[in-house]
Amino acid sequence: MTPNSSAPQKLYLLQLSTSTVPFPGGRTLDMSMGCYLLETGDGRHILIDSGLPADYQRAPGSPSAENEKNVIEHLADLGLRPDDIDTVICTHFDVDHAGHHDSFTRAEFIVQREHYDLARSGYERYAPIRAHWDHPDLRYRLVDGDTELQPGLTLIKTSGHTPGHQSVLVRLPRTGPVLLAIDAVAIQGAFTPDRQASPVDEDEEQLRASTRKLLDLVEREQVALTIFHHDGQQWQTLKKAPSFYD
Ligand SMILES: [Zn+2]
Repeated sequence: MTPNSSAPQKLYLLQLSTSTVPFPGGRTLDMSMGCYLLETGDGRHILIDSGLPADYQRAPGSPSAENEKNVIEHLADLGLRPDDIDTVICTHFDVDHAGHHDSFTRAEFIVQREHYDLARSGYERYAPIRAHWDHPDLRYRLVDGDTELQPGLTLIKTSGHTPGHQSVLVRLPRTGPVLLAIDAVAIQGAFTPDRQASPVDEDEEQLRASTRKLLDLVEREQVALTIFHHDGQQWQTLKKAPSFYD
């Protein structure tokens, strides 16, 4: 088998912060914030999301974040500058996913058309950090539905959490297929066909359909690892930068 040089060779999990949030029933939930970096065989760098903005104001009384390191600092640790990023995959424009987009002015940004059009129309949910994702220097490529971006890298449209949300399937040479569910399934315990929506999810029917779509994909593609984006407990068990999956 000839290795395809444009295929991803390394997947870095960049953990941006952790926190402990109250959960109904007096319990607490370990919450993780993160984003991802892919390195291809031909030395290109693909960032998936960019985390909370530097000027983010936490709501009064909300749990404080620990272990904070932003995406720029993570990249610097790996010897990379923002201009080394060739592509940014935008899963959606929530505040904790798109806050540093405007640092990557040399990159091509890839987003679902449905999501982009809605956000650009002034949709309230994405307005707070619009200056970061709608910066005049940013170049966007819009895609419609599931899209194989390049060998080993496929975008999976998973609406429900928000319209036009996308998850990412990465095929790595050693690990095999890795699914980044992002906020379609943010916590491992929610990866069931009959799950319920949380207050941050916009459409329960769509959310359930997207969850089933990902459950089918895991089976069909024999996914080796599914990463649940905000699941602090799972992230404790995962390899994080500077380690990587290959
Ligand atoms: Zn999120």
